[in-house]
Amino acid sequence: MVEPVSGLTVVKVGGSEGVDLDAVCDDVAKLTANGARLVLLHGGSSETNRVSTLLGHPPRFVTSPSGHQSRYTDRATLEVFEMVYCGKVNKGIVERLQARGVNAVGLSGLDGRLFEGRRKESVRTVEDGRVRVLHGDHTGVVERVNAPLLRLLLDNGYLPVLTPPAISHEGAAINVDGDRAAAAVAGAMGAEALLLLSNVRGLLSQFPDEGSLVRILERGCIEEAMAYAGGRMKKKLLGAREALEAGVRQVVLGDARRQWPVSAALAGEGTVLS
Ligand code: ADP
Repeated sequence: MVEPVSGLTVVKVGGSEGVDLDAVCDDVAKLTANGARLVLLHGGSSETNRVSTLLGHPPRFVTSPSGHQSRYTDRATLEVFEMVYCGKVNKGIVERLQARGVNAVGLSGLDGRLFEGRRKESVRTVEDGRVRVLHGDHTGVVERVNAPLLRLLLDNGYLPVLTPPAISHEGAAINVDGDRAAAAVAGAMGAEALLLLSNVRGLLSQFPDEGSLVRILERGCIEEAMAYAGGRMKKKLLGAREALEAGVRQVVLGDARRQWPVSAALAGEGTVLS
């Protein structure tokens, strides 16, 4: 680990319908102008689904025997994923930030081996009650973050805007979960806070009832919360737990559909885990 960057906040903004990237960038510009040190990481799932369907290669999701849902990523899917995440979404955020006076630099996990991990070539999936093994998957889990490279950028006044894919130990692109990649970045950089912003107020105990927001989730209760966290919310809880285990003081699951979404999450609006 590099020497911790004091007061660093890692912000992951999701790629689901409803997320307001202009509001996120307005807030990032205001906070950095006031001296905040931030690293931004983003998703792009709904746009990837739209583009891959347009290209005649609709997304395929698989559910593991333990109930986790993920995207089955064959090589063609990986290439669409790169077009959307590293192209349209990443450069769209960099452009918004540059227009607001923030010297943003967009990088994927491939660049400078920013996110490195192990490839999982096959995935177990449950279909019609039966477990099947699918081969040819290009996915993995981040095991190492090139923290010195991020440090170099931060120390020279750049704001890193990061995106999957990651790179395998053998040097091939692999799709990784953005929330867990953000947790790995926060841990490796010694960040104080990790904000996982998406299109819900936070963790809901009775999804989709937005009135059932869980305001505080003790670390010891994460396992219990997995029972009512569906689909992708489970990944956010896994990421939150990994960040806390890596020494990050606070994780907030917050809302990116509102104005000043980063400041609101920093002020504890959403689900706070500490
Ligand atoms: P991202 O913004 O990272 O792309 P996702 O959309 O993949 O995020 O994950 C957030 C989604 O998780 C919500 O839009 C919601 O549909 C789903 N979800 C499932 N269960 C819950 C829950 N208990 N509380 C909040 N959201 C939940």
